[in-house]
Amino acid sequence: MFNRRNIVFKGIAASPGIAVGNVFLLEVDDFCLIHKEIPINIREAEKKRLNDAIEKTKAELKITYDKINEVLDKNYAQIVNVHLLILADSSMRKDIDKLIESGVNAEYALFKVIDKIIRSFEAIEDDYFRERKLDVQDVGKKILSNLVGKQKKTIASLDKDSIVIAHNLTPTDTVSIREKLVKGFATDIGGKTSHTAIIAQGLEIPSVVGLKVISSQARTGDVIIINGDKGEIILNPTPEVIAEYKREYDIQFAKKKELEKLKNLPAETIDNHKVLIYANVDNPDEVQSILKNGATGIGLYRTEYIFFTRKAIPSEKDHLEKYLQVVKKMSPYPTVIRTVDLGGDKLAKMGLLNIEHEENPFLGLRAIRLCLKYPKIFIDQLRGILKASAYGKIRLMYPMISGLGELRDANKILEKVKQDLRKEHVEFDEDMEIGTMIEVPSAAMIIDAIAKEVDFVSIGTNDLIQYVLAIDRVNENVANLYDPLHPAILRYIKKIIDESHNAGISVSMCGEMAGDPYYTPILIGFGLDEFSVSSIQISKVKKVIRSIYFADVKRAAEEMLKCSDRNEILKIMTTIQIH
Ligand code: PEP
Ligand code: MG
Repeated sequence: MFNRRNIVFKGIAASPGIAVGNVFLLEVDDFCLIHKEIPINIREAEKKRLNDAIEKTKAELKITYDKINEVLDKNYAQIVNVHLLILADSSMRKDIDKLIESGVNAEYALFKVIDKIIRSFEAIEDDYFRERKLDVQDVGKKILSNLVGKQKKTIASLDKDSIVIAHNLTPTDTVSIREKLVKGFATDIGGKTSHTAIIAQGLEIPSVVGLKVISSQARTGDVIIINGDKGEIILNPTPEVIAEYKREYDIQFAKKKELEKLKNLPAETIDNHKVLIYANVDNPDEVQSILKNGATGIGLYRTEYIFFTRKAIPSEKDHLEKYLQVVKKMSPYPTVIRTVDLGGDKLAKMGLLNIEHEENPFLGLRAIRLCLKYPKIFIDQLRGILKASAYGKIRLMYPMISGLGELRDANKILEKVKQDLRKEHVEFDEDMEIGTMIEVPSAAMIIDAIAKEVDFVSIGTNDLIQYVLAIDRVNENVANLYDPLHPAILRYIKKIIDESHNAGISVSMCGEMAGDPYYTPILIGFGLDEFSVSSIQISKVKKVIRSIYFADVKRAAEEMLKCSDRNEILKIMTTIQIH
Protein backbone atom coordinates (compact mmCIF):
# COMPACT_ATOMS: atom_id res chain seq x y z
CA MET A 1 0.00 0.00 0.00
CA PHE A 2 1.05 3.62 -0.67
CA ASN A 3 2.94 4.93 2.33
CA ARG A 4 1.32 8.21 3.35
CA ARG A 5 3.91 9.06 6.01
CA ASN A 6 6.13 12.14 5.87
CA ILE A 7 5.60 12.92 2.18
CA VAL A 8 7.02 16.21 0.91
CA PHE A 9 5.16 18.09 -1.84
CA LYS A 10 6.79 21.03 -3.58
CA GLY A 11 4.70 23.93 -4.87
CA ILE A 12 4.86 27.71 -5.08
CA ALA A 13 5.40 29.82 -1.96
CA ALA A 14 2.32 32.05 -1.79
CA SER A 15 2.34 33.52 1.69
CA PRO A 16 5.22 33.22 4.18
CA GLY A 17 5.28 31.48 7.54
CA ILE A 18 5.06 28.02 9.03
CA ALA A 19 1.94 26.26 10.22
CA VAL A 20 1.30 22.80 11.66
CA GLY A 21 -2.26 21.54 11.88
CA ASN A 22 -4.91 19.14 10.69
CA VAL A 23 -6.12 18.93 7.13
CA PHE A 24 -9.60 20.11 6.23
CA LEU A 25 -10.18 18.94 2.68
CA LEU A 26 -12.52 21.17 0.72
CA GLU A 27 -14.54 19.31 -1.85
CA VAL A 28 -13.90 19.85 -5.51
CA ASP A 29 -16.56 21.99 -7.10
CA ASP A 30 -16.76 19.66 -10.08
CA PHE A 31 -19.95 18.22 -11.31
CA CYS A 32 -19.05 14.63 -10.62
CA LEU A 33 -20.57 12.56 -7.84
CA ILE A 34 -20.73 9.20 -6.18
CA HIS A 35 -23.54 6.79 -6.95
CA LYS A 36 -25.38 5.54 -3.86
CA GLU A 37 -28.23 3.02 -3.71
CA ILE A 38 -31.34 4.55 -2.09
CA PRO A 39 -33.58 2.08 -0.19
CA ILE A 40 -37.13 1.86 -1.50
CA ASN A 41 -38.75 3.36 1.61
CA ILE A 42 -36.92 6.69 1.31
CA ARG A 43 -37.10 7.23 -2.43
CA GLU A 44 -40.08 9.59 -2.11
CA ALA A 45 -38.16 11.62 0.46
CA GLU A 46 -35.21 11.67 -1.93
CA LYS A 47 -37.48 13.10 -4.66
CA LYS A 48 -38.67 15.74 -2.25
CA ARG A 49 -35.06 16.64 -1.46
CA LEU A 50 -34.48 17.20 -5.15
CA ASN A 51 -37.68 19.21 -5.44
CA ASP A 52 -36.65 21.46 -2.54
CA ALA A 53 -33.24 22.07 -4.11
CA ILE A 54 -34.86 23.01 -7.43
CA GLU A 55 -37.31 25.37 -5.74
CA LYS A 56 -34.50 27.00 -3.79
CA THR A 57 -32.49 27.43 -7.00
CA LYS A 58 -35.52 29.01 -8.70
CA ALA A 59 -35.96 31.48 -5.86
CA GLU A 60 -32.26 32.42 -5.98
CA LEU A 61 -32.36 32.90 -9.74
CA LYS A 62 -35.39 35.17 -9.43
CA ILE A 63 -33.52 37.38 -6.97
CA THR A 64 -30.56 37.47 -9.36
CA TYR A 65 -32.90 38.36 -12.24
CA ASP A 66 -34.24 41.38 -10.34
CA LYS A 67 -30.76 42.51 -9.35
CA ILE A 68 -29.45 42.32 -12.88
CA ASN A 69 -32.44 44.19 -14.24
CA GLU A 70 -31.68 46.96 -11.80
CA VAL A 71 -28.06 47.58 -12.83
CA LEU A 72 -27.36 45.93 -16.19
CA ASP A 73 -29.13 45.81 -19.49
CA LYS A 74 -31.98 43.44 -20.27
CA ASN A 75 -29.77 41.06 -22.29
CA TYR A 76 -28.12 39.82 -19.16
CA ALA A 77 -31.37 39.33 -17.35
CA GLN A 78 -32.31 37.20 -20.36
CA ILE A 79 -29.49 34.80 -19.55
CA VAL A 80 -31.03 34.23 -16.13
CA ASN A 81 -34.35 33.71 -17.82
CA VAL A 82 -32.82 30.92 -19.88
CA HIS A 83 -31.67 29.29 -16.65
CA LEU A 84 -35.17 29.57 -15.22
CA LEU A 85 -36.55 27.93 -18.37
CA ILE A 86 -34.10 25.04 -18.03
CA LEU A 87 -35.28 24.60 -14.45
CA ALA A 88 -38.87 24.51 -15.59
CA ASP A 89 -38.17 21.79 -18.18
CA SER A 90 -40.56 19.00 -17.20
CA SER A 91 -38.85 16.28 -19.23
CA MET A 92 -35.55 16.86 -17.43
CA ARG A 93 -37.39 16.70 -14.16
CA LYS A 94 -39.19 13.48 -15.12
CA ASP A 95 -35.92 11.80 -16.12
CA ILE A 96 -34.32 12.66 -12.77
CA ASP A 97 -37.36 11.47 -10.83
CA LYS A 98 -37.37 8.21 -12.79
CA LEU A 99 -33.77 7.52 -11.85
CA ILE A 100 -34.49 8.28 -8.18
CA GLU A 101 -37.48 5.92 -8.29
CA SER A 102 -35.13 3.21 -9.56
CA GLY A 103 -32.96 3.67 -6.46
CA VAL A 104 -30.36 6.23 -7.57
CA ASN A 105 -29.49 9.05 -5.13
CA ALA A 106 -30.67 12.54 -6.11
CA GLU A 107 -27.17 13.99 -6.69
CA TYR A 108 -26.15 11.20 -9.00
CA ALA A 109 -29.49 11.18 -10.82
CA LEU A 110 -29.15 14.92 -11.41
CA PHE A 111 -25.59 14.43 -12.65
CA LYS A 112 -26.61 11.65 -15.08
CA VAL A 113 -29.48 13.61 -16.60
CA ILE A 114 -27.56 16.87 -16.90
CA ASP A 115 -24.62 14.99 -18.39
CA LYS A 116 -26.91 13.46 -21.02
CA ILE A 117 -28.32 16.88 -21.95
CA ILE A 118 -24.82 18.35 -22.15
CA ARG A 119 -23.73 15.56 -24.50
CA SER A 120 -26.69 16.19 -26.75
CA PHE A 121 -25.73 19.88 -26.92
CA GLU A 122 -22.14 18.96 -27.74
CA ALA A 123 -23.34 17.14 -30.84
CA ILE A 124 -24.92 20.33 -32.26
CA GLU A 125 -22.94 21.90 -35.11
CA ASP A 126 -24.02 25.49 -34.58
CA ASP A 127 -21.47 27.15 -32.25
CA TYR A 128 -24.00 29.29 -30.47
CA PHE A 129 -26.36 26.44 -29.59
CA ARG A 130 -23.49 24.12 -28.74
CA GLU A 131 -22.24 26.60 -26.18
CA ARG A 132 -25.65 26.63 -24.46
CA LYS A 133 -24.44 23.48 -22.75
CA LEU A 134 -22.70 25.86 -20.34
CA ASP A 135 -26.08 27.16 -19.22
CA VAL A 136 -27.28 23.63 -18.54
CA GLN A 137 -24.05 22.90 -16.67
CA ASP A 138 -24.48 26.05 -14.63
CA VAL A 139 -28.04 25.24 -13.68
CA GLY A 140 -26.93 21.72 -12.74
CA LYS A 141 -24.23 23.11 -10.44
CA LYS A 142 -26.65 25.51 -8.82
CA ILE A 143 -29.16 22.75 -8.04
CA LEU A 144 -26.36 20.53 -6.86
CA SER A 145 -24.97 23.06 -4.44
CA ASN A 146 -28.42 23.44 -2.91
CA LEU A 147 -28.84 19.67 -2.88
CA VAL A 148 -25.62 18.96 -1.01
CA GLY A 149 -26.03 22.06 1.15
CA LYS A 150 -22.66 23.29 -0.10
CA GLN A 151 -22.26 25.90 2.58
CA LYS A 152 -22.73 23.36 5.33
CA LYS A 153 -20.21 20.92 3.93
CA THR A 154 -17.50 23.35 3.04
CA ILE A 155 -15.95 26.45 4.51
CA ALA A 156 -18.69 27.11 7.01
CA SER A 157 -17.87 23.89 8.86
CA LEU A 158 -14.17 24.64 9.18
CA ASP A 159 -12.36 24.34 12.45
CA LYS A 160 -10.35 27.30 13.60
CA ASP A 161 -7.12 25.34 13.72
CA SER A 162 -7.50 23.67 10.34
CA ILE A 163 -5.23 23.80 7.37
CA VAL A 164 -7.40 23.99 4.30
CA ILE A 165 -6.50 21.83 1.32
CA ALA A 166 -8.39 22.39 -1.92
CA HIS A 167 -8.02 21.89 -5.62
CA ASN A 168 -8.58 25.60 -5.99
CA LEU A 169 -9.74 28.41 -3.76
CA THR A 170 -11.48 31.34 -5.35
CA PRO A 171 -10.79 34.77 -3.87
CA THR A 172 -14.31 34.55 -2.44
CA ASP A 173 -13.47 31.29 -0.65
CA THR A 174 -10.32 32.88 0.70
CA VAL A 175 -12.30 35.79 2.07
CA SER A 176 -14.62 33.35 3.85
CA ILE A 177 -11.58 31.61 5.29
CA ARG A 178 -10.61 34.96 6.79
CA GLU A 179 -13.54 34.74 9.14
CA LYS A 180 -12.48 31.29 10.29
CA LEU A 181 -8.91 32.24 11.17
CA VAL A 182 -7.51 29.02 9.75
CA LYS A 183 -3.83 28.24 10.22
CA GLY A 184 -2.88 27.86 6.58
CA PHE A 185 -3.88 26.56 3.19
CA ALA A 186 -2.55 24.72 0.19
CA THR A 187 -4.01 24.25 -3.28
CA ASP A 188 -3.35 22.21 -6.42
CA ILE A 189 -3.48 25.18 -8.73
CA GLY A 190 -2.56 28.88 -8.69
CA GLY A 191 0.52 31.09 -8.91
CA LYS A 192 2.28 33.51 -6.58
CA THR A 193 0.35 36.53 -7.82
CA SER A 194 -3.07 34.90 -8.00
CA HIS A 195 -5.54 36.87 -5.93
CA THR A 196 -5.99 33.96 -3.60
CA ALA A 197 -2.27 34.11 -2.77
CA ILE A 198 -2.42 37.88 -2.36
CA ILE A 199 -5.35 37.65 0.05
CA ALA A 200 -3.50 35.00 2.06
CA GLN A 201 -0.61 37.42 2.48
CA GLY A 202 -2.98 40.14 3.61
CA LEU A 203 -4.39 37.74 6.18
CA GLU A 204 -0.88 36.62 7.17
CA ILE A 205 -1.83 32.97 6.62
CA PRO A 206 1.06 30.72 5.52
CA SER A 207 0.16 29.14 2.19
CA VAL A 208 1.50 27.16 -0.71
CA VAL A 209 -0.18 26.96 -4.12
CA GLY A 210 0.46 25.08 -7.37
CA LEU A 211 0.95 21.73 -5.61
CA LYS A 212 -0.81 19.96 -8.48
CA VAL A 213 -1.99 16.81 -6.63
CA ILE A 214 -2.31 17.69 -2.97
CA SER A 215 -6.11 17.64 -2.90
CA SER A 216 -6.13 14.03 -4.09
CA GLN A 217 -3.45 12.93 -1.60
CA ALA A 218 -4.47 14.63 1.64
CA ARG A 219 -7.43 13.51 3.71
CA THR A 220 -9.38 15.38 6.33
CA GLY A 221 -7.70 14.82 9.68
CA ASP A 222 -4.19 14.19 8.31
CA VAL A 223 -1.45 16.13 10.08
CA ILE A 224 0.25 18.60 7.79
CA ILE A 225 3.05 21.18 7.88
CA ILE A 226 2.88 24.21 5.60
CA ASN A 227 6.14 25.95 4.84
CA GLY A 228 5.04 29.16 3.15
CA ASP A 229 8.62 30.40 2.77
CA LYS A 230 9.96 27.41 0.91
CA GLY A 231 6.73 26.60 -0.95
CA GLU A 232 6.68 23.13 0.54
CA ILE A 233 4.29 21.00 2.54
CA ILE A 234 4.79 17.79 4.48
CA LEU A 235 1.92 15.38 4.85
CA ASN A 236 1.77 13.20 7.97
CA PRO A 237 5.21 14.23 9.24
CA THR A 238 7.06 12.13 11.81
CA PRO A 239 7.27 13.53 15.38
CA GLU A 240 10.93 14.40 14.72
CA VAL A 241 10.02 16.50 11.67
CA ILE A 242 7.24 18.24 13.61
CA ALA A 243 9.72 19.08 16.38
CA GLU A 244 12.17 20.44 13.79
CA TYR A 245 9.48 22.70 12.33
CA LYS A 246 8.40 23.91 15.74
CA ARG A 247 12.01 25.01 16.30
CA GLU A 248 11.99 26.76 12.90
CA TYR A 249 8.71 28.44 13.86
CA ASP A 250 10.32 29.80 17.04
CA ILE A 251 13.26 31.19 15.04
CA GLN A 252 10.87 32.92 12.65
CA PHE A 253 8.86 34.31 15.51
CA ALA A 254 12.03 35.81 17.02
CA LYS A 255 12.95 37.36 13.65
CA LYS A 256 9.49 38.87 13.38
CA LYS A 257 9.89 40.46 16.80
CA GLU A 258 13.24 41.88 15.68
CA LEU A 259 11.65 43.39 12.56
CA GLU A 260 8.93 45.02 14.66
CA LYS A 261 11.60 47.32 16.08
CA LEU A 262 11.78 49.04 12.66
CA LYS A 263 8.16 50.07 12.90
CA ASN A 264 8.70 53.75 13.63
CA LEU A 265 11.91 54.23 11.66
CA PRO A 266 11.85 55.91 8.24
CA ALA A 267 12.28 54.00 4.97
CA GLU A 268 15.60 55.61 4.18
CA THR A 269 18.87 54.33 2.68
CA ILE A 270 22.17 54.67 4.55
CA ASP A 271 22.97 57.72 2.38
CA ASN A 272 19.61 59.34 3.18
CA HIS A 273 17.51 58.62 0.10
CA LYS A 274 13.92 58.52 1.41
CA VAL A 275 10.94 56.60 0.03
CA LEU A 276 7.48 55.80 1.38
CA ILE A 277 6.17 52.38 2.34
CA TYR A 278 2.42 52.00 2.10
CA ALA A 279 0.27 48.92 2.46
CA ASN A 280 -2.07 46.96 0.24
CA VAL A 281 -5.38 46.05 1.84
CA ASP A 282 -8.48 44.18 0.78
CA ASN A 283 -10.64 44.84 3.76
CA PRO A 284 -11.09 47.45 6.51
CA ASP A 285 -10.20 44.94 9.20
CA GLU A 286 -6.60 44.85 7.92
CA VAL A 287 -6.02 48.48 8.87
CA GLN A 288 -5.06 47.64 12.44
CA SER A 289 -2.40 45.20 11.28
CA ILE A 290 -0.84 47.54 8.72
CA LEU A 291 -0.61 50.37 11.24
CA LYS A 292 0.96 47.96 13.71
CA ASN A 293 3.55 47.10 11.07
CA GLY A 294 4.40 50.76 10.42
CA ALA A 295 2.53 51.59 7.20
CA THR A 296 2.21 55.33 6.67
CA GLY A 297 -0.62 55.06 4.19
CA ILE A 298 -2.55 52.66 1.99
CA GLY A 299 -1.16 52.51 -1.53
CA LEU A 300 -3.81 50.11 -2.79
CA TYR A 301 -7.21 49.40 -1.34
CA ARG A 302 -8.60 46.64 -3.55
CA THR A 303 -12.35 47.11 -3.45
CA GLU A 304 -13.38 43.84 -5.07
CA TYR A 305 -14.12 42.28 -1.72
CA ILE A 306 -16.98 44.64 -1.10
CA PHE A 307 -18.53 42.85 -4.07
CA PHE A 308 -17.47 39.33 -3.07
CA THR A 309 -18.87 39.48 0.40
CA ARG A 310 -22.47 40.18 -0.53
CA LYS A 311 -24.92 38.63 -2.90
CA ALA A 312 -26.20 41.86 -4.43
CA ILE A 313 -24.15 44.47 -6.24
CA PRO A 314 -23.12 46.93 -3.50
CA SER A 315 -24.99 50.20 -3.17
CA GLU A 316 -23.47 53.65 -2.69
CA LYS A 317 -24.20 53.26 1.02
CA ASP A 318 -22.34 49.92 1.18
CA HIS A 319 -19.32 51.56 -0.42
CA LEU A 320 -19.40 54.61 1.80
CA GLU A 321 -19.66 52.48 4.93
CA LYS A 322 -16.52 50.48 4.04
CA TYR A 323 -14.47 53.49 2.98
CA LEU A 324 -15.31 55.41 6.13
CA GLN A 325 -14.14 52.48 8.22
CA VAL A 326 -10.77 52.65 6.49
CA VAL A 327 -10.33 56.38 6.07
CA LYS A 328 -11.25 57.30 9.62
CA LYS A 329 -8.75 54.79 11.05
CA MET A 330 -6.01 55.78 8.57
CA SER A 331 -6.35 59.53 9.02
CA PRO A 332 -4.10 61.58 8.61
CA TYR A 333 -2.33 59.05 6.38
CA PRO A 334 -3.55 58.78 2.77
CA THR A 335 -5.60 55.93 1.30
CA VAL A 336 -5.52 55.07 -2.39
CA ILE A 337 -8.90 53.56 -3.23
CA ARG A 338 -8.88 51.62 -6.47
CA THR A 339 -12.16 51.43 -8.33
CA VAL A 340 -13.36 47.90 -8.70
CA ASP A 341 -11.32 45.41 -10.71
CA LEU A 342 -13.86 42.66 -11.34
CA GLY A 343 -13.16 39.99 -13.93
CA GLY A 344 -9.96 38.00 -14.43
CA ASP A 345 -9.66 35.59 -11.52
CA LYS A 346 -11.84 37.86 -9.38
CA LEU A 347 -15.24 36.72 -10.50
CA ALA A 348 -18.04 37.95 -8.34
CA LYS A 349 -20.86 35.47 -8.23
CA MET A 350 -23.43 38.16 -8.57
CA GLY A 351 -25.19 37.37 -11.76
CA LEU A 352 -22.73 38.81 -14.27
CA LEU A 353 -23.10 35.55 -16.09
CA ASN A 354 -21.43 36.56 -19.29
CA ILE A 355 -18.23 37.10 -17.34
CA GLU A 356 -18.26 33.66 -15.81
CA HIS A 357 -18.24 32.27 -19.32
CA GLU A 358 -15.42 34.26 -20.85
CA GLU A 359 -12.81 32.09 -22.55
CA ASN A 360 -9.94 34.48 -21.66
CA PRO A 361 -11.12 36.40 -18.63
CA PHE A 362 -7.79 38.18 -18.11
CA LEU A 363 -8.18 39.63 -21.59
CA GLY A 364 -11.86 40.19 -21.18
CA LEU A 365 -14.39 42.48 -19.61
CA ARG A 366 -12.34 43.37 -16.57
CA ALA A 367 -11.83 46.35 -14.26
CA ILE A 368 -12.33 49.78 -15.88
CA ARG A 369 -13.76 48.14 -19.02
CA LEU A 370 -16.55 46.61 -17.00
CA CYS A 371 -17.17 49.87 -15.14
CA LEU A 372 -17.40 51.87 -18.35
CA LYS A 373 -19.80 49.33 -19.82
CA TYR A 374 -22.00 49.27 -16.71
CA PRO A 375 -21.71 52.85 -15.38
CA LYS A 376 -24.25 52.29 -12.59
CA ILE A 377 -21.78 50.03 -10.77
CA PHE A 378 -19.07 52.66 -11.26
CA ILE A 379 -21.17 55.68 -10.31
CA ASP A 380 -22.33 54.11 -7.04
CA GLN A 381 -18.74 53.40 -6.15
CA LEU A 382 -17.53 56.89 -7.14
CA ARG A 383 -20.27 58.50 -5.06
CA GLY A 384 -19.22 56.37 -2.08
CA ILE A 385 -15.57 57.31 -2.53
CA LEU A 386 -16.27 61.03 -2.99
CA LYS A 387 -18.53 61.19 0.03
CA ALA A 388 -15.88 59.43 2.14
CA SER A 389 -13.25 61.92 0.90
CA ALA A 390 -14.77 64.55 3.17
CA TYR A 391 -13.55 62.53 6.17
CA GLY A 392 -9.88 61.86 5.33
CA LYS A 393 -7.23 61.87 2.63
CA ILE A 394 -8.36 59.71 -0.29
CA ARG A 395 -6.63 59.32 -3.63
CA LEU A 396 -8.67 57.66 -6.36
CA MET A 397 -7.11 55.14 -8.75
CA TYR A 398 -8.40 53.39 -11.88
CA PRO A 399 -7.32 49.81 -12.70
CA MET A 400 -6.39 48.37 -16.12
CA ILE A 401 -6.31 51.63 -18.04
CA SER A 402 -4.97 50.79 -21.49
CA GLY A 403 -5.05 54.19 -23.16
CA LEU A 404 -6.09 57.82 -22.94
CA GLY A 405 -9.63 57.11 -24.16
CA GLU A 406 -10.49 54.97 -21.14
CA LEU A 407 -8.87 57.43 -18.76
CA ARG A 408 -10.83 60.34 -20.19
CA ASP A 409 -14.10 58.37 -20.24
CA ALA A 410 -13.63 57.43 -16.59
CA ASN A 411 -12.82 61.05 -15.71
CA LYS A 412 -15.91 62.25 -17.56
CA ILE A 413 -18.10 60.03 -15.42
CA LEU A 414 -16.25 61.20 -12.32
CA GLU A 415 -16.84 64.85 -13.27
CA LYS A 416 -20.55 64.21 -13.74
CA VAL A 417 -20.74 62.50 -10.34
CA LYS A 418 -19.00 65.48 -8.76
CA GLN A 419 -21.44 67.88 -10.42
CA ASP A 420 -24.38 65.88 -9.08
CA LEU A 421 -22.95 65.92 -5.57
CA ARG A 422 -22.42 69.67 -5.75
CA LYS A 423 -26.05 70.11 -6.77
CA GLU A 424 -27.07 67.94 -3.84
CA HIS A 425 -24.85 70.08 -1.55
CA VAL A 426 -22.87 67.02 -0.53
CA GLU A 427 -19.39 67.74 0.72
CA PHE A 428 -16.35 66.02 -0.81
CA ASP A 429 -12.67 66.73 -1.36
CA GLU A 430 -12.53 68.94 -4.47
CA ASP A 431 -8.76 68.40 -4.68
CA MET A 432 -8.85 64.60 -4.48
CA GLU A 433 -5.92 63.28 -6.52
CA ILE A 434 -6.69 60.99 -9.44
CA GLY A 435 -4.25 58.31 -10.54
CA THR A 436 -4.11 55.18 -12.57
CA MET A 437 -2.56 51.76 -12.35
CA ILE A 438 0.01 51.10 -15.03
CA GLU A 439 -0.38 47.40 -15.65
CA VAL A 440 -1.27 47.10 -19.32
CA PRO A 441 1.72 47.32 -21.69
CA SER A 442 -0.04 49.79 -23.99
CA ALA A 443 -0.42 52.24 -21.08
CA ALA A 444 3.22 51.76 -20.11
CA MET A 445 4.26 52.49 -23.68
CA ILE A 446 2.41 55.85 -23.71
CA ILE A 447 3.19 56.72 -20.11
CA ASP A 448 4.45 60.16 -21.17
CA ALA A 449 0.93 61.07 -22.36
CA ILE A 450 -0.89 59.41 -19.47
CA ALA A 451 1.36 61.03 -16.87
CA LYS A 452 0.27 64.46 -18.11
CA GLU A 453 -3.37 63.72 -17.28
CA VAL A 454 -3.09 62.15 -13.82
CA ASP A 455 -1.74 63.13 -10.40
CA PHE A 456 0.11 59.84 -9.77
CA VAL A 457 0.61 56.35 -11.17
CA SER A 458 1.08 52.97 -9.54
CA ILE A 459 2.81 50.09 -11.31
CA GLY A 460 0.82 46.87 -11.13
CA THR A 461 3.55 44.34 -11.80
CA ASN A 462 1.26 41.36 -11.25
CA ASP A 463 -0.59 42.18 -14.42
CA LEU A 464 2.18 44.02 -16.22
CA ILE A 465 4.39 40.91 -16.08
CA GLN A 466 1.46 38.70 -17.07
CA TYR A 467 0.68 40.81 -20.14
CA VAL A 468 4.26 41.64 -21.21
CA LEU A 469 5.55 38.08 -20.92
CA ALA A 470 2.27 36.37 -21.93
CA ILE A 471 2.31 34.32 -18.70
CA ASP A 472 -1.01 33.59 -17.03
CA ARG A 473 -0.46 34.77 -13.46
CA VAL A 474 -2.60 32.00 -11.94
CA ASN A 475 -1.29 29.08 -13.97
CA GLU A 476 1.17 26.97 -11.97
CA ASN A 477 2.43 25.28 -15.15
CA VAL A 478 4.09 28.47 -16.33
CA ALA A 479 4.84 29.95 -12.90
CA ASN A 480 8.58 29.34 -13.40
CA LEU A 481 8.50 31.68 -16.40
CA TYR A 482 6.84 34.53 -14.48
CA ASP A 483 9.94 36.65 -14.09
CA PRO A 484 10.15 40.18 -12.66
CA LEU A 485 13.82 40.29 -13.69
CA HIS A 486 13.15 39.72 -17.38
CA PRO A 487 15.05 42.53 -19.14
CA ALA A 488 11.82 43.67 -20.83
CA ILE A 489 10.12 44.09 -17.44
CA LEU A 490 13.00 46.08 -15.99
CA ARG A 491 12.99 48.38 -19.00
CA TYR A 492 9.23 48.91 -18.71
CA ILE A 493 9.53 49.78 -15.04
CA LYS A 494 12.36 52.22 -15.62
CA LYS A 495 10.49 53.88 -18.47
CA ILE A 496 7.36 54.32 -16.34
CA ILE A 497 9.36 55.83 -13.48
CA ASP A 498 11.47 58.17 -15.60
CA GLU A 499 8.70 59.51 -17.79
CA SER A 500 6.35 60.00 -14.86
CA HIS A 501 9.07 61.95 -13.07
CA ASN A 502 9.56 64.02 -16.22
CA ALA A 503 5.88 64.92 -16.01
CA GLY A 504 6.35 65.86 -12.37
CA ILE A 505 4.29 63.07 -10.78
CA SER A 506 5.21 60.39 -8.24
CA VAL A 507 5.37 56.67 -8.96
CA SER A 508 4.24 53.89 -6.69
CA MET A 509 4.40 50.14 -7.18
CA CYS A 510 1.66 47.99 -5.69
CA GLY A 511 2.26 44.66 -7.44
CA GLU A 512 3.83 41.78 -5.52
CA MET A 513 7.28 42.67 -6.84
CA ALA A 514 7.25 45.72 -4.55
CA GLY A 515 6.78 43.49 -1.50
CA ASP A 516 9.59 41.05 -2.24
CA PRO A 517 12.75 42.29 -0.45
CA TYR A 518 14.90 40.59 -3.08
CA TYR A 519 13.84 43.25 -5.60
CA THR A 520 13.97 46.19 -3.20
CA PRO A 521 17.52 47.38 -4.10
CA ILE A 522 16.80 47.47 -7.80
CA LEU A 523 13.51 49.36 -7.35
CA ILE A 524 15.27 51.89 -5.14
CA GLY A 525 18.00 52.11 -7.78
CA PHE A 526 15.39 52.84 -10.44
CA GLY A 527 14.07 55.76 -8.37
CA LEU A 528 10.69 54.34 -7.28
CA ASP A 529 8.99 56.78 -4.86
CA GLU A 530 6.50 54.56 -3.04
CA PHE A 531 6.27 50.87 -2.25
CA SER A 532 2.83 49.48 -1.51
CA VAL A 533 3.12 46.02 -0.03
CA SER A 534 1.21 43.50 2.06
CA SER A 535 1.27 44.11 5.79
CA ILE A 536 3.64 41.25 6.51
CA GLN A 537 6.28 42.57 4.06
CA ILE A 538 6.49 46.17 5.29
CA SER A 539 9.34 45.66 7.77
CA LYS A 540 11.19 43.23 5.52
CA VAL A 541 11.31 45.77 2.68
CA LYS A 542 12.19 48.58 5.09
CA LYS A 543 15.05 46.55 6.55
CA VAL A 544 16.64 46.18 3.09
CA ILE A 545 16.15 49.87 2.29
CA ARG A 546 17.89 50.83 5.52
CA SER A 547 20.82 48.53 4.71
CA ILE A 548 21.80 49.80 1.24
CA TYR A 549 23.41 52.85 -0.31
CA PHE A 550 21.29 54.62 -2.91
CA ALA A 551 24.44 55.47 -4.92
CA ASP A 552 25.35 51.75 -5.07
CA VAL A 553 21.99 50.43 -6.13
CA LYS A 554 21.50 53.24 -8.65
CA ARG A 555 24.73 52.22 -10.36
CA ALA A 556 23.76 48.53 -10.30
CA ALA A 557 20.30 49.32 -11.69
CA GLU A 558 21.82 51.31 -14.54
CA GLU A 559 24.09 48.38 -15.38
CA MET A 560 21.10 46.03 -15.40
CA LEU A 561 19.31 48.15 -17.96
CA LYS A 562 22.10 47.50 -20.43
CA CYS A 563 21.55 43.73 -20.16
CA SER A 564 19.41 41.73 -22.54
CA ASP A 565 20.15 38.44 -20.86
CA ARG A 566 18.57 37.53 -17.55
CA ASN A 567 21.74 35.76 -16.36
CA GLU A 568 23.74 38.97 -16.64
CA ILE A 569 21.08 40.69 -14.52
CA LEU A 570 21.30 37.95 -11.92
CA LYS A 571 25.07 38.36 -11.81
CA ILE A 572 24.69 42.08 -11.06
CA MET A 573 22.12 41.25 -8.35
CA THR A 574 24.77 39.22 -6.52
CA THR A 575 27.11 42.23 -6.42
CA ILE A 576 24.64 44.43 -4.50
CA GLN A 577 25.82 44.95 -0.94
CA ILE A 578 23.30 44.67 1.88
CA HIS A 579 25.10 46.14 4.89
C1 PEP B 1 -1.20 44.31 -10.10
O1 PEP B 1 -1.69 43.92 -11.16
O2 PEP B 1 0.02 44.32 -9.87
C2 PEP B 1 -2.09 44.78 -9.02
C3 PEP B 1 -1.60 45.33 -7.93
O3 PEP B 1 -3.43 44.60 -9.18
P1 PEP B 1 -4.16 43.21 -8.95
O4 PEP B 1 -3.17 42.24 -8.35
O5 PEP B 1 -5.32 43.47 -8.07
O6 PEP B 1 -4.55 42.80 -10.34
MG1 MG C 1 -3.76 44.29 -11.59
